[in-house]
Order: sequence, then structure tokens, then C-alpha cells
Amino acid sequence: PLRPGYTGRFAPSPTGPLHAGSLVAALASWLDARAHGGTWLVRIEDIDPPRCQPGADQEILRQLAACGLHSDAPVVWQSRRHALYAQALEQLVQDRLAYPCGCTRKDLEAVWQAMGLAHERHVERPYPGTCRNGLHGKPARAWRFALQRWIDRYPPDPAQTLGTPAQAAMNNDETMSAGRVCWQDRRLGPQQQDVLATVGDFVLRRADGLWAYQLAVVVDDGEQGITDIVRGEDLTDNTPRQILLQQALHLPLPRYLHTPLVRMANGEKLSKQHGAPAVDLSNPLAALTQAAACLDLPAPHHSASTVPDALAFWVRHWREIQRD
Ligand code: GLU
Repeated sequence: PLRPGYTGRFAPSPTGPLHAGSLVAALASWLDARAHGGTWLVRIEDIDPPRCQPGADQEILRQLAACGLHSDAPVVWQSRRHALYAQALEQLVQDRLAYPCGCTRKDLEAVWQAMGLAHERHVERPYPGTCRNGLHGKPARAWRFALQRWIDRYPPDPAQTLGTPAQAAMNNDETMSAGRVCWQDRRLGPQQQDVLATVGDFVLRRADGLWAYQLAVVVDDGEQGITDIVRGEDLTDNTPRQILLQQALHLPLPRYLHTPLVRMANGEKLSKQHGAPAVDLSNPLAALTQAAACLDLPAPHHSASTVPDALAFWVRHWREIQRD
């Protein structure tokens, strides 16, 4: 499965040290890069300072090193790449694909209430398009992607979205809508999301001036020439927005593989918010073996094996599992 030009990445947010769940994404992205004879990069996604924990970036890099996972090029920090994000936003503004929005959370809540869309926990409501045609005298706060305009300009061509038979079936059902993005995940198979109906014109730059994850990740993946994105399944829902931005910015579309989430005994997703313990630096092989099990990879044969031996063993297995 060697693929010339393969470039993968691991892009942790330094909101805390690596835990068992984030190590799965790190290991899977590294194995996939090695199995394809490719390059693996580490990018620290520290664009949201209030959420970052001081020193977590260095701790993550130490944990990765202890696990034998080393970036093939110097590590980059998103906090030092503002110029790239500003340039991308400017390009979208020039193309009339980004516009300022003056709505506060309260303004939006009032519109949603009037539309009968009450607030429900964990349910995102689509942007109602309030500032799509101008700010109505309000000061600009956030910048949004002009999804509706993008769709009007480039209505989806059904012939082009008919990727696989399963996708064709999805395109023909009665929920066919212009805002729908169909894409293929290497593990999860055909995926679809109606971005217009679920999120609408999404935010590129927040009212507090911070760059939205969606914009930064797409700009960086494009700038770093990432061909393959391997990351946790909790990010699956973001992929359609990112595909739209890649298209709008004329960037090549990467392939995607979303890895299984590690769950706690009660079935909840393992996360920093839930106080998941940091990967234990004193026994990286045990942590890696646990992460590998989550990826359906066997434990290395000899109890005495080293981290490099175990990684080489898993690369061979990964090649067999991923037949592409
Ligand atoms: N920085 C994101 C996170 O840690 C992941 C970004 C990505 O892999 O696309 O959740």
C-alpha cells in the first residue's frame, strides 16, 4: 500500500496531556503514515488560548517521544500562524464567500425562538441567515462562511456526488438537499450531512477575534500538504464543513479515517473534561498496547519487546488490515 506523497498528521489541542483516547488517534495516524511509506507531522492546535493549559504542548511532545512517535518535520504551533488564517479569510471575502455577522448569542436565540427552535442540550441549531444580506446597522462581530451563496453558485451535480453505490442510494432518497455533503470515511464508509440544515453559514472567525477550528484546520492541512487525515471519531461531524472550505479555498481534498473512541466503563467518551488520566510516561509500551487494542491490533508477542519493536509489529498488521 505504499503511496508516494502520503502526508499525515496528528493535531492535538494542548488543553491537557495526552490520555488513552488521544493516544489512539496519535498511534493510528502514525501507523497509517508508516504503512503507506509516508510522512507524519505533529501540529499543536493552540488557537483557543482560554482552553489551552500552559505546558501541555511540551508534555504532549514528551509523551509522543516516549511512545516512539516523532514528527518527521519541525512541529508547528497554530498560534504562530495567524497570517495564514487571515489570508484565507481575505480570499473568501474577496470571493464573496465570507461575510461579517453582527448577531449576539441573544439575538440568535430570539430568532430561533421565533422560528420555534427551542434550545435543547447537545442540539445545534442552524444559523438563521440573519446577517447574510447585510449587518442591518449592527457592528460586525464574527465572520461566517457564505454557505447558502456557495450552494447557489455551485449547486451540487448529482452525477459528481455518485461516488459509491451506497452514496448513489443516499443521493436518490427523498432527503436530497442542496446543502448535503457526501463523503467517504475509510473505516465508517459513506457519510453524509446536510450542512445547511444542521449548521448553516458557520463561523470562520469568532466574535472574540479567535480563529474557528474549522478554518485553521483546513488552512493548515492545505498548507502542510496533508493527504490523509486520521483522527478520532468525535470529529466526524466537522468533516463536511471542512470539505466545503477546502473546495471554496481551492485546496485538494484529503482522505479521511476516523478512529474508534475509547469509552469509560459507563460508556461515556473518554475525555479531558471527564478527567481522563494522562498517558503514563513510565510505561509507554503498556499505553501503546492498550491504544493498539482499540484499533483491533494484537499485543506484541514477547512481553520483553521494546517500543520500536512493537511499533514495527503494528505497522505490519496495519498494512494487512488496510488493504488500500
Ligand atoms: N485539535 C483537534 C483536537 O484535538 C483535532 C483536530 C483534527 O485532528 O482535525 O480535538
